[in-house]
Amino acid sequence: MSPAEIKDYYKILGLNEKASKEEINKAFRKLAVKYHPDKTKGNKKLEERFKEINEAHQILSDDEKRKQYDFMRSNPFGASGFDPNIFTGAGAQNVRFNMDDLGDLFGGMGGLGDMFDFFSSSQTRSARSKKRRPARGNDIQTSAVIPFLTAALGGNYTITLLKEETCGRCGGSGAEPGTTASVCPRCGGAGTITVSQGAFGVSRPCPECLGSGSKITKPCRDCRGRGRRETPRTITVKIPAGIKHGQKIRLAGEGEPGAAGGPKGDLFIQINVEKNAEFSRDGDVIQSEAWIDLPAAVLGGQTTVNTLQGPVTLKIPAGTQSGTKFKLKGRGIKFSKDRIGDHYVVVKIRTPKNLTPEQRKLFEAFAKSL
Ligand SMILES: [Zn+2]
Ligand SMILES: [Zn+2]
Repeated sequence: MSPAEIKDYYKILGLNEKASKEEINKAFRKLAVKYHPDKTKGNKKLEERFKEINEAHQILSDDEKRKQYDFMRSNPFGASGFDPNIFTGAGAQNVRFNMDDLGDLFGGMGGLGDMFDFFSSSQTRSARSKKRRPARGNDIQTSAVIPFLTAALGGNYTITLLKEETCGRCGGSGAEPGTTASVCPRCGGAGTITVSQGAFGVSRPCPECLGSGSKITKPCRDCRGRGRRETPRTITVKIPAGIKHGQKIRLAGEGEPGAAGGPKGDLFIQINVEKNAEFSRDGDVIQSEAWIDLPAAVLGGQTTVNTLQGPVTLKIPAGTQSGTKFKLKGRGIKFSKDRIGDHYVVVKIRTPKNLTPEQRKLFEAFAKSL
């Protein structure tokens, strides 16, 4: 096929290849008014002409598309690889993708695979043209409240969250099984459109397909065309010993699914640690209180203290004051084999209540002796 078979959009607008953007827009406005279906009611030929005018304007008013179109017209080799139909009707905007294939070839990227793709049948090419560039899925931010001991000792914690997952019914296409999604006519399947901003072309998500690149004729019943659904998911999170309140855990690949075969995002879980009745934490140090009886405080003795590493016997020296802190070395958080934190015990003295008359007499005698 020769380039002559490609529609001459310049001619359709009554312009030549050097036409400026203003000239293109001006010519389009003039012709659009003239051939508007309101005025040409019923005349199929004129309606067809109106369509052509629209199409020509769509291509030529878009800098990128125009460049690609011009390139194709002037490149006889390129034309041999293309289906001229890509410049007609709804397929008009596939240009970009076929040009991408061409770019791959000329850019020396890829290997024979790309070559074969490029020269393969038009069906394969049109399927390929629908393919979007892979995009990484979004990260998910969530939080979990975990028990104090799980945070201190480490362990597994199970969280359930609503997660965006690829829809099982349509496999992510958004189209009801048995039907197909067609390429979005606005962006040609790219999911993005190029908006000119001054001298630059800026890529924006396509407003027509919201970035999906395809238009669904019959939306999937389960996901209503989104291709993904909020699905409750239970995830077992491995909590490292000694994790602090507010720290985040990252689970790679547990985020939202990517687009067009792109990788999944990550899941970030902010860990909030519950308070514990027995233990508290100050930095890397575990603290607890130990209540001892008055005689043990006065005369000395011992008491049993619970630690993260199990019960420990604490020696109480004679004359221990209330509020005295005792250090239990290496009985705190086991951060690693070589790094075990300490545990501090604050001693509190239990003052005897409800004394018997005899005990009362003894205390009175003791008081007198001071
Ligand atoms: Zn679905
Ligand atoms: Zn689109």
